[in-house]
Amino acid sequence: MIPVRTFSGKRVAVFGLGGSGLSTAEALVAGGADVVACDDGEVARARAADAGITVVDLRTLDWTGIEALLLAPGVPLTHPQPHWSVELARDAGVEVIGDIELLVRERRALKDVCPLIAITGTNGKSTTTALIAHLLASTRRDVQMGGNIGRAVLTLDPPAAGRIYVIECSSFQIDLAPGLDPTVGIHLNLSPDHLDRHGTMANYAAIKERLIAGSDLAIIGVDDPLSLAIAERSEERGQKHVLISAKTAFEDGVYFADGSVHANGSTFSLDGIGSLRGQHNGQNACAAIAAVQAMGLSEADIREGLATFPGLPHRMEEVGRLGNMLLINDSKATNADSTAQALASFKDIHWIIGGKAKEGGIEPLAGFFPRIAKAYLIGAAADAFAATLEGKVPYERSGTLDVALASATRDAAQSTSRESVVLLSPACASYDQFKSFEDRGDQFRVMVHAIPGVLRRGQTSGNDGAA
Ligand code: ADP
Repeated sequence: MIPVRTFSGKRVAVFGLGGSGLSTAEALVAGGADVVACDDGEVARARAADAGITVVDLRTLDWTGIEALLLAPGVPLTHPQPHWSVELARDAGVEVIGDIELLVRERRALKDVCPLIAITGTNGKSTTTALIAHLLASTRRDVQMGGNIGRAVLTLDPPAAGRIYVIECSSFQIDLAPGLDPTVGIHLNLSPDHLDRHGTMANYAAIKERLIAGSDLAIIGVDDPLSLAIAERSEERGQKHVLISAKTAFEDGVYFADGSVHANGSTFSLDGIGSLRGQHNGQNACAAIAAVQAMGLSEADIREGLATFPGLPHRMEEVGRLGNMLLINDSKATNADSTAQALASFKDIHWIIGGKAKEGGIEPLAGFFPRIAKAYLIGAAADAFAATLEGKVPYERSGTLDVALASATRDAAQSTSRESVVLLSPACASYDQFKSFEDRGDQFRVMVHAIPGVLRRGQTSGNDGAA
């Protein structure tokens, strides 16, 4: 835990007592602050009280003497409208910040010896964050990874010389971290997302831009127009930056072309690295390589680290092989945009699709239909998706995931192509049949591992189906 000393002896309010909010309250108490905390939910309030946190009703609190409101990132700061606790804080002239701002302040005195790498973008944040942490950890650097991935930042080890923080930042977290000053700031890309919480695309982009604007070195993806504009403004400011692209080759930047990342005179092939398939991962790898080059990693270290990157679960995760059949869990793909990345990465696809459909359905994926051998429909979206596929892609209405997997493996086993792929990339939310996308992916993985003869990633001989 990082005891937060910047509010030692001061009175601080915390709203939102989920995982990160509770750890914020605990870290403030450990640093000597007088903490009063609140949540709209009774269970969260009781859990915090059990953990020894003073739980009060912030509506009836006298806000005089409160130094700051620490807000959990899931609580609306501006849109659709500020949460009532934010209104109360603003009326009382109290600053509203989040846990990443506290990390930033705790690190400030050690800024020159305790690097912070912060990562944002609409897509690819977690993969890039995990890859950077993996590359650094492979060379035995002291790495602390967290934020919007894994652990809340204040549960990490405290700032120290030589310790490197690798922190994934959502737009909500950036919005609550006005002092964010990374050693290396990464902005990957921008597409419409969370507009209910940010109002407009322009506002969403402006929040993302703040992360790289405060960085000593900015690494900026330029493959979409809004991100390109961010890069141009960085250039105008005279900021030190590296541009990255998975689409365009440049002389000074870092780019992905022909299956390799070209970075400052070195070439890193991603061919054969199963955890980094696809052009989108080319962009993520560009960002990660540029960041670790800035941290002084050698070409040999980077090459070795890339080869051993295990990837993240549920993101084009290779869960098994059976003869020439590859079985992929891409359960995190809950919309057509994400599924497009997976469809672009494979051919001869036996595609398990469906769940609770997002607006627009799978119409935007029509360009990939020639790659699909057959689709297996599950969940609530079956009728709508059948209508889109009709006459274009063979499909069956499987209903449930187990039936879909059995049919898909049966059909893929008949394929004569060099590699047939059974791909769970649902382009849908999971809530109609599963607790979460993680639950959906975990169940898929268990079912795949139970198929007789399936080789798990890295395995050379199969199971007997009893797993
Ligand atoms: P995030 O943390 O930003 O949600 P992840 O690394 O978890 O991103 O990837 C989630 C999904 O987003 C992946 O399954 C993939 O479909 C898609 N994706 C990943 N990286 C990129 C990228 N650089 N550009 C576009 N889409 C991406």
